[in-house]
Amino acid sequence: MNPLAPLAALILAGCATIYNPATGRQETVLTTPIETALGSLARAQMGLTSLKMGRVSPEELGRAQETGKRLAQVSDRKDVPYQFGVIQDDSINAFTLPGGTIYVHTKTLETADDDELAAVLGHEIGHVAARHVAKHLQADLGIALLLEAASRAGASGESARMVSSLYGLFSKGFSRQDELEADRLGIRYTQRAGFDPEGMIRFFEKMERERPEGALDRASVWNRTHPLTSERIARAKKEISELKSRMFCPECGREYASPKARFCEKDATPLKKKWGLP
Ligand SMILES: [Zn+2]
Ligand SMILES: [Zn+2]
Repeated sequence: MNPLAPLAALILAGCATIYNPATGRQETVLTTPIETALGSLARAQMGLTSLKMGRVSPEELGRAQETGKRLAQVSDRKDVPYQFGVIQDDSINAFTLPGGTIYVHTKTLETADDDELAAVLGHEIGHVAARHVAKHLQADLGIALLLEAASRAGASGESARMVSSLYGLFSKGFSRQDELEADRLGIRYTQRAGFDPEGMIRFFEKMERERPEGALDRASVWNRTHPLTSERIARAKKEISELKSRMFCPECGREYASPKARFCEKDATPLKKKWGLP
């Protein structure tokens, strides 16, 4: 028997080609059970033994979890067991592990009002929905190694390499394209969940005031790992104004991107503005 056959079978079983509604692309991705297993491994190896790390009040955890759940429910990806944790830390940050586990720092909770927190968590959920973490790991390490790590849960060399790849991602950040995509998705999710999407812009502006772009910027990881704030603000403004002008058909639900659209092409029903509706 070909010694590679079991591995090939494993690779086939651990991957699936899907249409990803978050990115609008056909993609070969790790299956959700594999991604979730990698997330549990990463949490164990990173010492994230609880959703409450350090001195975190039940109110702080509750706020992160309630906000996160509202957003996850309207996201483009609902097949992962979303979990929201809080880490006591005096820097503005939030990060996402494989399989839908998202941690936010206490400083972020202190700094952000509810709409701004929704923007931060919506952005992280955007990374989950677009499968950015899994795709980074796939590109960095290859599928075979990840499946080895997932199948041999424990402190194997494979899972150690997976965790060091994650640390690399958290310190260097996602690609600019992935960050902008997560912003775009985050804006959608905040709007769908009934938050004010402009919270994202206000939060960026708050970060800019606290740490003007430049040398000081490097002190904040959430800032540093993201494209320059001014570019994100400009993109977010554009995205929000496009969302505001979207029309939809109250009869069949079809959406129209052009604000000039007046009647549904299918049933000729007069269109309504999408903005403000869940
Ligand atoms: Zn990000
Ligand atoms: Zn219609």
